[in-house]
Amino acid sequence: MRPEVEKVLDSIRPALQADGGDVELVDIDGGVVKVRLMGACGGCPMATMTLKGGIEAALKERIRPSNGWNPYNPLTHSEGGVMAYKITEECIACGACVPECPAQCIAEGDPIYTIDASKCTDCAACAGVCPTAACVPA
Ligand code: SF4
Ligand code: SF4
Repeated sequence: MRPEVEKVLDSIRPALQADGGDVELVDIDGGVVKVRLMGACGGCPMATMTLKGGIEAALKERIRPSNGWNPYNPLTHSEGGVMAYKITEECIACGACVPECPAQCIAEGDPIYTIDASKCTDCAACAGVCPTAACVPA
């Protein structure tokens, strides 16, 4: 996953360098990305905000669980987040998505299958096997 993280940091770097700073990837340990702010950023009182608001948000947005690595615990609907999939009327009730769901949140319904949004982790595994593209982000 290091190349993907580097790519995200590279996309942020020009904005940091414009202010005389930079960011360096130190380590990825157990899904935790450690970075070092350098130059003007290192001693800047806004550094924490830069880390939280800019770098962390970019990593969360652009490195998705479907890449095989979950860099964070996505919020579910029940926790006040918006990350979940839903099943549309395109569903032909084939059942292919059920065994693919790591959260076991897909159930047989009438007439279409349904997703328990409070358990869905937004992994997109269901979308990968659905023959009718009925699994879509909610
Ligand atoms: S996105 Fe993932 S967790 Fe959510 S319903 Fe589909 S397979 Fe299950
Ligand atoms: S794989 Fe698609 S068509 Fe099959 S049950 Fe799931 S949502 Fe419906």
